[in-house]
Amino acid sequence: MKYYSDKNRNLFTDFKTAVLEGLAPDGGLFVPDNIPVLSQSFFDNLHNLSIGEIAFEVLKPYVSENMSNDVLNSIISRTFTFPAPVIKLSDSLGILELFHGPTLAFKDFGARFMANTMSQFIRQENRELNILVATSGDTGSAVAHGFYGVEGINVYILYPSQKVSKIQEMQLTTLDKNITALEIEGTFDDCQKLVKEAFTDKDLRKNLPLSSANSINIARLLPQSIYYFEAFKQVQRNNNIIFSVPSGNLGNLTAGLIAKKSGLPVKKFIAAANSNNVFTEYINSGQFIPRPSVKTYSNAMDVGNPSNLARIDSIYRKILGSIREDIYSISFSDFETIEGIKELKEKYDYLIDPHGAIGYLAFDKYEKDTDDFGIILETAHPAKFGDVIELNTGFKIEMPKRLSDYLKAEKKSIKMDKQYDSLKSFLRSKKK
Ligand SMILES: *Cc1c(COP(=O)(O)O)cnc(C)c1O
Repeated sequence: MKYYSDKNRNLFTDFKTAVLEGLAPDGGLFVPDNIPVLSQSFFDNLHNLSIGEIAFEVLKPYVSENMSNDVLNSIISRTFTFPAPVIKLSDSLGILELFHGPTLAFKDFGARFMANTMSQFIRQENRELNILVATSGDTGSAVAHGFYGVEGINVYILYPSQKVSKIQEMQLTTLDKNITALEIEGTFDDCQKLVKEAFTDKDLRKNLPLSSANSINIARLLPQSIYYFEAFKQVQRNNNIIFSVPSGNLGNLTAGLIAKKSGLPVKKFIAAANSNNVFTEYINSGQFIPRPSVKTYSNAMDVGNPSNLARIDSIYRKILGSIREDIYSISFSDFETIEGIKELKEKYDYLIDPHGAIGYLAFDKYEKDTDDFGIILETAHPAKFGDVIELNTGFKIEMPKRLSDYLKAEKKSIKMDKQYDSLKSFLRSKKK
């Protein structure tokens, strides 16, 4: 499999380079050159396969140029270590729970696969790699946990002091081994600026191999298509499956579209958005007008310029008619989000988080046929958004043990001012 840059269909590279570089030399995102269609026997046999076996069959053609089957299997066995169950609420509705990983959000799937893949590639070359990542909360913890204990890779997470939630902070600062949390006296933007400065500092990079664990890395995207197959397997209703995907940067949606192009019989994808609805407007009007993001209750979807739109456009060769055939999109306000949480709880006694609630509302509004079956992607555990839910609905949420355990652990962070020189001398002191 070759990967091209979305900015230039003639600029190709292999999987390994795409993963280690993250971005194409022209600044574009890597897109698979073709999406292999899975055989009929794969689908006939799907109900007998575990999630790991599905992952192996689906991912093999994307990585085989740089990876043996054994290596792929070992990466999969370290990635797909938790289930993705569909909870059936009625004859026409199910919830795909993607929060059973270590940080209780779907980003665990992609972050773990990327971490294990990078580790594999640098070990072959006997290299060390240092990952710098700025976070405003959730991405940092998924990335940190993905790389936790992974050989040959040191991770430095920069987060703004006092500006992330207690749980988020504990998820970032209670890991040890190869993970170091840098608590920056500044804002998220300051953290991002520091990371950018480090990447453009030739003097530093001469001696210290740096990489980013960017959300647009192709190794984060591909494994996200696996749980669409896994969900389909669990409901087994051919041709009338509709996935409702709470969307921000459109990574999850893009992974679903790849699954469909591989032959998964999905009738429609719903891109469910909050007030940051530039993609909804694109689907409806054909105009893409990026905007600064606004803050909402479903904050992981507060994106004003979704990067994966470039990949969707590439896969569909920018033909809006075909995009619309596969995707319907609609957006909801914070007020509606809360109403959605209440409605689902009252109707089905199921407590959903604000992101999943938007998925639920979108499927509810979608014009359905009688034998349509909707699968809502529940992208995070509601306890991660306990404050918002409790304050607005009065519903109490029991904290899962793996979340409450973080609060008992010891916080370890290195406090640092926002001057680049402080970061630089710290990183230099780490050089072997
Ligand atoms: C990241 C995230 C999203 C948005 O996913 P995209 O792939 O960026 O569209 C939705 N919900 C939660 C909980 C997230 O963390």
